[in-house]
Amino acid sequence: MLNKEIPFSRPFINDDEINEVSEVLRGKWITTGEKVKEFENKVKEYLDVDMAIAVSSGTAAIDVSLAVNNICSEDEIITTPYTFASTVLSIIHRGAHPVLIDVDKETFNLDPIKILAYIKKNYKKTKKGLLSKIRGKYLRGIIIVHFGGQSVELDELNSIAKENNIFIIEDAAHAIGAEYKGVKIGNSDNAVCFSFYSNKNITTGEGGMIVKKNNNNEELYRKYSLHGISKNNIERYKTGLPFYDIEVAGFKNNLTDIQAALGVVQIRKIDYITKQRNIIAKWYDEELNGISEIELPIIKKHNYSARHLYPILLKPEFKDKRDELILKLRESKVYPSVHFLPVHFFSYFKKYYSKEEINNLIIAEDLFYREISLPIFPEISKEDVKRVAKTISLFF
Ligand SMILES: *Cc1c(COP(=O)(O)O)cnc(C)c1O
Repeated sequence: MLNKEIPFSRPFINDDEINEVSEVLRGKWITTGEKVKEFENKVKEYLDVDMAIAVSSGTAAIDVSLAVNNICSEDEIITTPYTFASTVLSIIHRGAHPVLIDVDKETFNLDPIKILAYIKKNYKKTKKGLLSKIRGKYLRGIIIVHFGGQSVELDELNSIAKENNIFIIEDAAHAIGAEYKGVKIGNSDNAVCFSFYSNKNITTGEGGMIVKKNNNNEELYRKYSLHGISKNNIERYKTGLPFYDIEVAGFKNNLTDIQAALGVVQIRKIDYITKQRNIIAKWYDEELNGISEIELPIIKKHNYSARHLYPILLKPEFKDKRDELILKLRESKVYPSVHFLPVHFFSYFKKYYSKEEINNLIIAEDLFYREISLPIFPEISKEDVKRVAKTISLFF
């Protein structure tokens, strides 16, 4: 019998989403309106937070969070090379300099010890803040990424931020549904940025959200998420008057009611989705356990991962076989992925950075050469997982 295809990921959508979207389309309002508000309220309730602002993408969520912090060309932001490029591009778009620091070899996440060492060595404390001895710019913040759905060491990183009077923005594109020490990712004093891109754990096709435990500054976040306009769309519509103000230079980052209709249904399923992904990860753990050529993902005891990814590593002595194994899987109609090509490998960043700035990202590079992300999505079956594992085991 011919094998069926096992895609890398598949959105978890059924008639509930289709009906909700249809209802919006049959109504009078399709852009940002009541459905967006409802989606925001549902996310607030789920995470027990006071601020949730829907935007057009995870990238937009990060950009708005940087804008609210007044990031400009005099500034530097520490971040990870082991992410999707938009985390780092957002910093460049604001005119600031992204400082790449190497990751932890077990979690693929930013390593607080390395960040602390970098700060101690390369900045001097001044009245205006931490001044880079190399570039003469000020360190303003850190953008962390919860890689694969597993939280970074938030306590350690938050205390580094507090001590040095810098902010943290959490790129939680992989991490809706995840927990750190029993607290949901998103329930944080930092700005937390979710993505609802089509392959993320919940999706609105394209979309994102900025979430924070407290709602200090909510007005400014809202302004930056829609042109800098001081009143939102609905109120403008209601007053009947064509007047509004532009108070800051924002982009057009709003989510539509059509997309939010997907979101309100998806967020209802989040606990099931996260649980199912953890079950599938456990199946992989069991099926792949005996294959001595690979290493399985490590989740720290205090973390509950959203299991956005299931990243395996080929042991160092087998790393030359990585691409061959990917081709073998594809031949068997299993479609894995690789996360991530470190950003400093892209030609834009090669030109952007000096050699000295990127010559110390040894773990990130090593992880990339050895990594394969196996298919994981709520509807994958145990039989599928067995077939993936068998293909890998036969390959070796
Ligand atoms: C997907 C992703 C983003 C960007 O999200 P979009 O909604 O596609 O803009 C940012 N960071 C990481 C780590 C991602 O995986």
